[in-house]
Amino acid sequence: MSALDLPKPAWWTDEHSMLAESTRSFLHKEFVPHLDRWSEAGIMDREAWTKAADAGLLSASIPEEYGGAGGDYSHEAVIAHEIGLAGADSWGWAIHGPIVAPYILHYGTEEQKKNWLPKMATGELVAALAMTEPGAGSDVQGIRTKAERSGNGWVLNGSKTFITNGQHANMVVVAAKTDPSAGAKGTSLFVVETDNAPGFRRGRKLKKLGLDWADTSELFFDDMKLPAEALLGPEPNQGFYQMMRSLPQERLTIGGAAVAMMERALTLTIAYVKERKAFGKPVMDFQNTQFELADMKTEATMAKAFYDTCVGLHIEGRCDTATASMVKYKLSDLQNTIVDRCLQLFGGYGFMDEYPISRMYRDARIQRIYGGTNEIMKLLIARTL
Ligand SMILES: Cc1cc2nc3c(=O)[nH]c(=O)nc-3n(C[C@H](O)[C@H](O)[C@H](O)COP(=O)(O)OP(=O)(O)OC[C@H]3O[C@@H](n4cnc5c(N)ncnc54)[C@H](O)[C@@H]3O)c2cc1C
Repeated sequence: MSALDLPKPAWWTDEHSMLAESTRSFLHKEFVPHLDRWSEAGIMDREAWTKAADAGLLSASIPEEYGGAGGDYSHEAVIAHEIGLAGADSWGWAIHGPIVAPYILHYGTEEQKKNWLPKMATGELVAALAMTEPGAGSDVQGIRTKAERSGNGWVLNGSKTFITNGQHANMVVVAAKTDPSAGAKGTSLFVVETDNAPGFRRGRKLKKLGLDWADTSELFFDDMKLPAEALLGPEPNQGFYQMMRSLPQERLTIGGAAVAMMERALTLTIAYVKERKAFGKPVMDFQNTQFELADMKTEATMAKAFYDTCVGLHIEGRCDTATASMVKYKLSDLQNTIVDRCLQLFGGYGFMDEYPISRMYRDARIQRIYGGTNEIMKLLIARTL
C-alpha cells in the first residue's frame, strides 16, 4: 500500500493504470532481485536494458512509426514513478527514454529519426547525453569540446565527465562548439555511435556517494571522425537552443523521481515504526512519530499534486522553463529533507546498508545537483520575477 492516497490526476486513464501495473511487475521480476549484486558490481547487467526494451519501457513516447509505443510524456511519468517506487534510482533510464529520444524526435531529420529511434526502442542502442566537462557544468556555454569540419563530415575533440550510462552507452549525444567565436550560439549536438569507433574512449566508472550501480563515467573524443549525418538536425549551431528547449522535460523527470522516492520512504517508514518497539510500545505510538509522519505526508502530497499538475501542463505544451525549474528544485530539496527525517525514525538501523532507507539517503543527494543545480533553478525562476 502507498503512503500517499491522492486521487489520480485528470490526465490519468486506464491505460496508465495498466502501464503502471506491467512496469511494476517487470521491475520486481527483472530488476529488484539483482539490485544488491548490481550495487556490488557498480553497474547493472547490459541484458537488463534489452529486457526493459522488450517490456516497452524504453520507447513509451516514441511514435509507432519509429518503433515505439506511441504514447506521450505522461506514459514516461508513469514509468519514472514505478522505477522510483522499486528503488531502481541508479538506472539511467531517464537519460535514454524521456531525455535523449525526444532530442532525436524533435530535432532530428527524417533519416536520423528512422535510423536511431527504432534501435533505441529495442535497446540495441543505449543512449547517453554528454554536456558536462571537467571545466564546465552549470556554465554550459563554457564547454571546450569542439567539432571542426573535415571534408563532408566533422572531427570531434574533447572530454566529458559525470556522464550517466557512460559504460553501457553506444550512442552518445555530445555537445560541442562548432563556432567558438559565437559563444553559446556556436554550439551543436552530435549523435555519436561508439561501437568500434576509432577516436572514442571510455574513462573511469567514477566512484561516488550514491547511485551505486549507475555507470557514471568520463568519455574522451580524440580526433574522432564523424559523418555529416552525425550532426543533429539539418544545420549546425542549434545546440544551445535544442538543449534549452529540452531541459524542462529533464527537470520534470527529476521531480518525478523525487515524488516517487518520498512516497517510498514514507511507505517503508510507516511500516517500520508500526513494528519497532521502544519503551514497550510501537515507535508509531509516540506523538513525535505521528506528527513527523503527518507533516511529511502533507508535504509529499503537496509535492505530488504540484508535479501531477505540471505533467498535465507539459503534455499540453504549457509547462514553461521556470515552472519546470520549480518542480526540480523544490521537489528534490523536499525529497532530501523527507528521506533524512524518515531515516531518523529508523534509528541506527536507518544507517545500515541492509535497510533501503540508507541507500535512499545517499541516492537522494545528487538530485539537487544534476540536471542543473538547484541554485541554477532559482536563477531561472528569479528571471520571471
Ligand atoms: C551522478 C551524476 C550524473 C550526472 N549525469 C550527467 C549526464 O548524464 N550528462 C551530463 O552532461 N552531465 C551529468 N552530470 C553533471 C551535472 O549535471 C553537473 O555536475 C551539474 O550541472 C553541476 O555542474 P558542476 O558539477 O560543474 O558544478 P559547478 O557548475 O562547478 O557548480 C559548483 C557550485 O556553484 C554553484 N553555481 C554555479 N554557477 C552559479 C551561479 N551562476 N549562481 C549561483 N551559484 C552557482 C552551483 O550551484 C554549485 O553549487 C552528472 C553529475 C553527477 C554527479
